[in-house]
Amino acid sequence: MATPFLQAISVSKTYPGALVSGIQKTDITINKGGITAIIGESGSGKSTLLKLLFGLLSPDTGEVQFKGERIRGPAEKLIPGHEAMKMVTQQTDDLNLYAKVWDNIASMLPHNDLKAKQEKTEKMLRQLKMTPLADKRVVDLSGGEKQRVAIARALIVNPEILLLDEPFNQVDTSFREGLQHDIRQIVKETGLTVIIVSHDPAEVLSMADELLVLKNGEILESGDPKTMYRKPKHLYTAKLLTNCTVLTCAEAKICGLKTKTDHIVIYPEWVETVKTWTRNDWEIKQVLFKGCYEDLIVERKGITIRVLNDQFGKYVEGNKVNLKLNRWLEY
Ligand code: ADP
Ligand code: MG
Repeated sequence: MATPFLQAISVSKTYPGALVSGIQKTDITINKGGITAIIGESGSGKSTLLKLLFGLLSPDTGEVQFKGERIRGPAEKLIPGHEAMKMVTQQTDDLNLYAKVWDNIASMLPHNDLKAKQEKTEKMLRQLKMTPLADKRVVDLSGGEKQRVAIARALIVNPEILLLDEPFNQVDTSFREGLQHDIRQIVKETGLTVIIVSHDPAEVLSMADELLVLKNGEILESGDPKTMYRKPKHLYTAKLLTNCTVLTCAEAKICGLKTKTDHIVIYPEWVETVKTWTRNDWEIKQVLFKGCYEDLIVERKGITIRVLNDQFGKYVEGNKVNLKLNRWLEY
């Protein structure tokens, strides 16, 4: 069997004092050349796991191996973190605020080959669509632009693995999608491996080749985004990936769904509003404008269901409709 690219073997890390914290014994294998997204609610251990993979934290048990070699922890190294990896977080404090974007990026490269330095910096700026920013001072950039500089600084030294810890949180949607696309493109062109931590479903679903779901420091499930979105193994995962309705068994019965499980989950796109001659006994309580669609919050007998609607203006609050449930999941 070939040596795994990056592997965590029975790795755990608890922080002193806290009851449930850090990472329970975890095994992970990450292959070369793709995007793995780690998702989980706040405090589930995402950042801890990323730091363990990078070598910024030493595990209490087990070890992390990169190409078959144990990654050394911060106590064993002068500069913590593995040389073949780069990590970008929301903090951009290592940027030189009063230097130009160009210098912030170029300064990551050795000074002995000025021509190579020039060419590589130009290429990096092009790849991340930053050429127009080259002569601006970092202090004059927006938050999103600073993030781009941080990512350029990480990528220009050709790391084998790029670790991203929620780096796009502060960044507006249109910018975010551009950056996500550019990173995907770089992964495709160079075989870079990316591990990204995020709690934004849209981001992980569109970017990742593989999803890892973390709950209370443990991996709950993993798989490709499409399969996982369509049929998550756990209620927790469904709630992370979509703005779904969760009904108890009793509530499901009131809606006419027979189920023996504790919960049923209905995604907004699995419900249709229909007008029938007989029972229109669901009331539209809210119409939430979402840009290219609307979310309808529909209620009957104290039960509310979220429904995706792309027929703008068809409903106003107070309208009565009937609902057709096309699909649901049982947990
Ligand atoms: P996430 O990134 O998913 O929000 P973290 O990995 O940062 O989660 O944290 C996981 C858990 O460990 C949380 O309960 C957090 O409070 C705890 N934790 C993280 N860092 C420390 C620390 N340095 N000392 C004590 N507890 C910590
Ligand atoms: Mg975190």
